[in-house]
Amino acid sequence: MVVLQPEDRIPLHLTTHSPEGLHVMKRGEDGWCVALNSVRMNCGIYETRPTVCRRFVMNGPYCKAIRTEYSGPAASARHESAA
Ligand code: SF4
Repeated sequence: MVVLQPEDRIPLHLTTHSPEGLHVMKRGEDGWCVALNSVRMNCGIYETRPTVCRRFVMNGPYCKAIRTEYSGPAASARHESAA
């Protein structure tokens, strides 16, 4: 979940509120952030991406763990249940 900070300036149609009341990036039916360009696998709002995304180290240990999680069997199950 990408939690937005007060200083973030994200178009509202890309955001929502979690059940806990947090202002967050929306996810598409595939489970990915709606700002992700899934063809090019890059951020569609890179220049104005959220603060938390700016702190995220691309290809760092956490990044690799998330990519593994989303490309493994659990990801396949998510895609099948969304279909
Ligand atoms: S970097 Fe862009 S695509 Fe990735 S989670 Fe943040 S806003 Fe979404």
